[in-house]
Amino acid sequence: MLSDKLTSCGIADHSDIPASWPSEERLKKGPVVVVECFQEIPCNPCETSCPRQAIVVGENINDLPKVDHAKCNGCTICVSRCPGLAIFVIDVNYSETESLVTMPYEFLPLPEKGDTVSALDRAGKECCRAKVVKVVNTKAQGKTPLVTLTIPRGMEKSIRFFKLIP
Ligand code: SF4
Ligand code: SF4
Repeated sequence: MLSDKLTSCGIADHSDIPASWPSEERLKKGPVVVVECFQEIPCNPCETSCPRQAIVVGENINDLPKVDHAKCNGCTICVSRCPGLAIFVIDVNYSETESLVTMPYEFLPLPEKGDTVSALDRAGKECCRAKVVKVVNTKAQGKTPLVTLTIPRGMEKSIRFFKLIP
């Protein structure tokens, strides 16, 4: 069941996340996808773009995507294909104190590798500082570049966006 917060203002709560969250065992193996798609809408680029069939919407295109985290290798291909900007790749193994989160970013200017940015949660609340470690903006991403941030360990379920620091 969706949280009141999600149904009333469209912001997912931590209680909405468990179904889409990889197991601790899978997280320890390396980067892995997190799909935060909660509404039944006619959409399936996540399924069609994944080369490993790790995401399945199925015959009824209105069904929610189901993820097999064991098949996902965290390649990030699906992240820029999702029109709902609902897909992220998490890597909790970056260092003793930091994790990585890769997210779609459709604003200009793009950040640059090495920039420090302000990391935001789903409601746009500033949570911490984060460092940009990768920006991917090739033809393959269409007009949805991918930005990877280092974030403090333990914040992987919270950080879903960022803003530049002037
Ligand atoms: S990150 Fe790559 S392997 Fe994982 S679901 Fe997305 S496209 Fe498939
Ligand atoms: S592409 Fe994105 S919005 Fe569309 S079904 Fe997949 S996860 Fe949901």
